[in-house]
Amino acid sequence: MRQKSVITPLYTSAGSVLFRNAMVLTMDCTDRLLVDTDVLVKDGRIATIGHGLDASPETRVVDASHHVLMPGLINAHVHSPANFLKGALDDAPLEMFMLYEVPPLAASPESAKLCRLRTLLGAAEMLKLGITSVHDDAFFNPIPTSETIDAVMQAYADAGIRASVSLDQPNVVEFDKYPFLEDLLPEDLHRHMECAPRQSDAELLKLYNGFIEKWHGAAEGRLRCSVSCSAPQRVTVPYFEALTALSAKHDIPFIVHILETRLQRVLGQEKYGKSLVRYVHDLGLLDERKVVVHAIWIDDDDIALLAASGCTVAHNPISNLKLGSGVMPWRELRDAGIPICLGSDEAAVDDTANMWGVAKAAGLIHKITDPEWTNWPRASEILHDLFVGGARGMGLAGTIGRIEPGYAADLVLVDLDTIAFTPLNDVRRQLVFCETGSSVELTMVDGRIVYESGKLATIDETQLRAEIREIMGEYGAVLEETRRQADRLAPFYREMYRQTLRRPVGMNRWVGKHEEED
Ligand SMILES: [Zn+2]
Repeated sequence: MRQKSVITPLYTSAGSVLFRNAMVLTMDCTDRLLVDTDVLVKDGRIATIGHGLDASPETRVVDASHHVLMPGLINAHVHSPANFLKGALDDAPLEMFMLYEVPPLAASPESAKLCRLRTLLGAAEMLKLGITSVHDDAFFNPIPTSETIDAVMQAYADAGIRASVSLDQPNVVEFDKYPFLEDLLPEDLHRHMECAPRQSDAELLKLYNGFIEKWHGAAEGRLRCSVSCSAPQRVTVPYFEALTALSAKHDIPFIVHILETRLQRVLGQEKYGKSLVRYVHDLGLLDERKVVVHAIWIDDDDIALLAASGCTVAHNPISNLKLGSGVMPWRELRDAGIPICLGSDEAAVDDTANMWGVAKAAGLIHKITDPEWTNWPRASEILHDLFVGGARGMGLAGTIGRIEPGYAADLVLVDLDTIAFTPLNDVRRQLVFCETGSSVELTMVDGRIVYESGKLATIDETQLRAEIREIMGEYGAVLEETRRQADRLAPFYREMYRQTLRRPVGMNRWVGKHEEED
């Protein structure tokens, strides 16, 4: 599987690096911003912070004057299998969109090579932007195999990024995930959906156990496993319960998408007679390891349940904009004490994995939902979500997201002698609202420099792009077939969507006016 032409193995020892005279954005508990400060990295960890630190002869000294040294950015929610779908799909609501991305009628598994290349592409993009950690909720069309799972994990191992990966695999019939759909489908599509490949609870749990055994803690702890049920309505209750037990047993995060769309609010009412947050709570499965993704169409009762559970919420503002999902009640969640992390969601709905753009969008979108400007997010709060929330969402609080002795040396050196920071007025505001990633000069993961001065240390980017162009011949045919099948299904999904709009839900998370009919 290993392709030496694309990958340059990381040198095995992390060595020592001294960053000299940096402005240091610590993100520590008092949010200190230090100036003209040295940071010594040793054996993959931040060893010492101070002034005029001594460097041993074997230590590499990096002149960091006129630079800000900050924790590596954390992409706390992404689906790498969509990495080849940037710009591929027209805008549409989630339920229409997923037809073209997670085809409900797909028949045969994708190749390990395809999985490897698209994971490498995402890792390359992120490392160049200073993103050192990714929480990847990886789905597999139509089902995962140990080969495709290994391809994703090996790609992350080779790329040198820190990655926590979960297997996002629904296991109920497609029409059971939606309201009204079963009754709308003609007989042939109904049958086709019932026969589409899906795995039993036991098969998926066996894969999960093998996955955790092989990869949790691999690459010197840089790779970790999480669990995922995708969404509560997409799996059987026994599987949801078993995954929750697995998450507790290994003390690892559990990814669950809840109430991303208004349609899902209607689904909860129709299928369970309650909100999907309350449904998960009533099953006894809402706990502190859950990373609840999106949480847009939630009400006050949901917010109280989320807060009491100790879960983290993953906010993906650009994805929510692209799919017209609505706006998450950010300030209400924050006021309830719920930790928030930030994610790009996926290349199909963000079109990049650029966390600088996500941070800026998060800093802006909530301003149009509330005329009371003191409720609007401040740059320092967005940075808090990005680093502190991100670390918590990955189950790595106390390990990453902060520059403090003992923390992992996941660092980014940002050049301040660029247009984004000239003149330098307020570094936090300029990091959130001016920087695009183009000032990132060096990226370090676990004490190893993986990107410097425009060049990745681990991946031959030219070769990677060439191999991806080549495989798109094969993958293009898969996408074409997906499109053909999705076009057959689209009229019934469109009708389902229209029917849900006629059902009142007693709230509106769209900024524009939406009048409920009943
Ligand atoms: Zn997602």
